[in-house]
Amino acid sequence: MNQHRIIAVEEHFATHRYIEVAGGLDVWSGDALELQQMRSPYGASAWMTEHLSDIPTRLAVMDASGTDVALLSLNPPGVQAYEPVAAATALVESANDEMAEVVRAHPSRFAGLGAVAPQDPQHAATEIERIMGPLGFAGLMICSHTHGQYLDEPMFEPLLAAAEAHGATIYLHPRMPTPQMIGPYQNYGMTAAVWGYQADAGTHAVRLMLSGTLDRHPGLRFVLGHLGEGLPFWMQRIDNRYAFAHKAAAKALGLPTLELTPSEYLQRNFAITTSGMDDEAALRFCLERLGEDSILFAIDYPYEDSDAATQFLRSASIPESARAKISHTNAERWFTLPSAS
Ligand code: MN
Repeated sequence: MNQHRIIAVEEHFATHRYIEVAGGLDVWSGDALELQQMRSPYGASAWMTEHLSDIPTRLAVMDASGTDVALLSLNPPGVQAYEPVAAATALVESANDEMAEVVRAHPSRFAGLGAVAPQDPQHAATEIERIMGPLGFAGLMICSHTHGQYLDEPMFEPLLAAAEAHGATIYLHPRMPTPQMIGPYQNYGMTAAVWGYQADAGTHAVRLMLSGTLDRHPGLRFVLGHLGEGLPFWMQRIDNRYAFAHKAAAKALGLPTLELTPSEYLQRNFAITTSGMDDEAALRFCLERLGEDSILFAIDYPYEDSDAATQFLRSASIPESARAKISHTNAERWFTLPSAS
């Protein structure tokens, strides 16, 4: 019945070499908690390492779940936690080279989202040229903040300009909240995917909208996981309250005059994915809010169950036209991917 080609776009990857080298690097003090948690029994395990690194294992899981193509991305938070800068830039180059080799060896099954080290925005700009050029990747992934700073901040201009110039769609993946906001998340297991990830990634996206960044770079395209990190549900209120705040106190609050409303930026510059959100009611709501053309399928391998995710996609009670677009055609339009039958 619903045998559409399936492209999954948030599928994490790391080689043994990467894990070993990264494990020996210094971590920025503000990221110590996140890295410590990832290296604890809660995060790292032999099972996880095998699923991140072993290609036959990954292909077997893809075959069993009916996933045709996986867009590989470096395991979060990529190289963004490491210092000094030179160690992070060297690591990201070798990680991208290693992922490109895997993609080249399996061109019908894998595509790649390259990684960058935003700690050095000029290096990131050069790496984006490589990502969209010789490495042949489909776009890039940035794991939210870097050393507590967000992409709307002026230091990241070269990175954003390069992404826009090269048509590199940025998958803005969550990570643990910044040291500035982590306090109340540290109880009850809330730092990670339970609540902290979406709070940080959603905040990041709202900053991109409200800062005027998307007026300076109208061609930038971002993809948010987890059905948009809560934003589709909030847009009417954000529009309403932003207009109120702007009218009442733009000067006092230092608000720029934006060309679009926040929800118009969400429509124009963002797509969302189904990663980790096998919830029919939420998916139907997002289809109603955003339309059929900006929702993409993702699993979040190896952290989510691949069989459950594809089963959800095949069986969700949504229009067949939407299922086809979510399964593959939207991924082919939002990322630099060849379309196939
Ligand atoms: Mn993920």
